Amino acid sequence: MAQGIQEDVMLNTALIKELADVAKDEALLQGVLMRIKETPNSSELATYAPFTLFPTPVPKAVFLQALAVQTHYNTLVDKISQDPDFLQESLASTVAVDDFTARLFRIHQQILKEGRSQTIVLGINRSDYMLDQREDGSSSLKQIEINTFAASFGGLSSHTPDVHRHILKIAGRLEESQRILDNNPAAGLARAVAKAWELYGSEKAVVMFLVEESQRNIFDQRYIESELWKRNIPTKRKRFDDVFKTGSLDHDKRLFVEGEEVAVVYFRNGYMPQNYTSEQDWDARLLMERSRAVKCPDISTHLAGTKKVQQVLARPGVLEKFFPDQPQVVEQIRATFAGLYTLDLGPEGDKTVALALAAPDRFVLKPQREGGGNNIYGSEICRVLEGAKTSTERTAYILMDKINPTASQNYLLRRDAPLIISNCLSELGAFGVYVRQGTDMVMNECVGHLLRTKSSEYSDGGVAAGVAVLDNPLLV
Ligand code: ADP
Ligand code: MG
Repeated sequence: MAQGIQEDVMLNTALIKELADVAKDEALLQGVLMRIKETPNSSELATYAPFTLFPTPVPKAVFLQALAVQTHYNTLVDKISQDPDFLQESLASTVAVDDFTARLFRIHQQILKEGRSQTIVLGINRSDYMLDQREDGSSSLKQIEINTFAASFGGLSSHTPDVHRHILKIAGRLEESQRILDNNPAAGLARAVAKAWELYGSEKAVVMFLVEESQRNIFDQRYIESELWKRNIPTKRKRFDDVFKTGSLDHDKRLFVEGEEVAVVYFRNGYMPQNYTSEQDWDARLLMERSRAVKCPDISTHLAGTKKVQQVLARPGVLEKFFPDQPQVVEQIRATFAGLYTLDLGPEGDKTVALALAAPDRFVLKPQREGGGNNIYGSEICRVLEGAKTSTERTAYILMDKINPTASQNYLLRRDAPLIISNCLSELGAFGVYVRQGTDMVMNECVGHLLRTKSSEYSDGGVAAGVAVLDNPLLV
């Protein structure tokens, strides 16, 4: 992106080294922390979470656009989650070939059959975007995906603004340092969780964070836990295994884990097939879904966040179905859609295959997965699609236009990594929260943002995967 840090600063190795040292200390002081990979389940040794030395310029108009559309995305996700026919039709071809999605879908069907035991819904979403930047200097905001499950970095990103402010001051850029925006998604996420807990209406019941086996990113979650404890809302961290071994439902389907009633299950684990290491983990997921606890997200909201649903939403007339009387909302959401193409069997899917094979560099091929590192690019797209040209295997994927942000230069600070200048691409996320009780939307807000930046050498991969790092927008 244009208007970054001047070249004389970027290429002054002595100054950069000095700034990087200060930046790491400031990150530690501000609590931008991660456990080290050698001991992910101990806080005896922690390091700074990876971040950029400098903030990245982001055009103000697109930044505001991302925040402004977020409450509509919340509404959309929520409406989809309440539309079993739409989910069934949209996901049919994926469920037929993708075991993981099929498994989730079976849980969804079982819950529908039994009837939902809780009318309170808690949604925490993060919609991610890149800027499609053209030669004429214009840029448009394009959604990469929406995360309805375990959207992370709301905690740490609440603490990165002060780090960049500090560094800009030391680099003699006081005016810019004052333009780094405050950001506090952790507070907003906690407010939504607290609201759901209150509505559940049992003072002793806990908010259960369902966490991974390996907990390197624990501090990101601890910020939310802290905010809840400040309100005297008890939190507990449990794994699938704890739920399997000690979880039960009473005659009212109240969920008890290790003897304590659970008001809210906040899933920070369970979005990848690898998160389920045994049938017992699946049994635990089902138990929680069947329970009266508020789930964040519940199974249908989980499915609403799939890439296949994202592709179906881009079809003509589909958004209109969800917002029949709100053409402006439809317009606002659709403006953020990149081209998305079905690979379902039939003439439309055949056309998609031909499109991709003719110009693979214009597209990204996405399987129905989350968590980074799964997408397919370039010649690999041809290999996969030629192999599955006319077979149902291809329906495990969707095809998407590749977004082309302009690269900017920065230094990515990461433990044990050399201090070198990198060509970087950024991805902007907007955090949204909502709470619904029956038909009443009692809260629907955009509560902050996240900027992640990675070297342009990598086409894929998040912060947890060691590719992207935390960043802040510098509005221009
Ligand atoms: P995941 O669920 O694995 O996070 P994403 O859809 O977010 O899946 O894709 C992972 C990464 O791949 C993104 O963070 C982005 O860097 C890159 N990516 C995804 N879609 C596109 C696209 N359409 N154009 C360019 N890069 C993309
Ligand atoms: Mg992503």
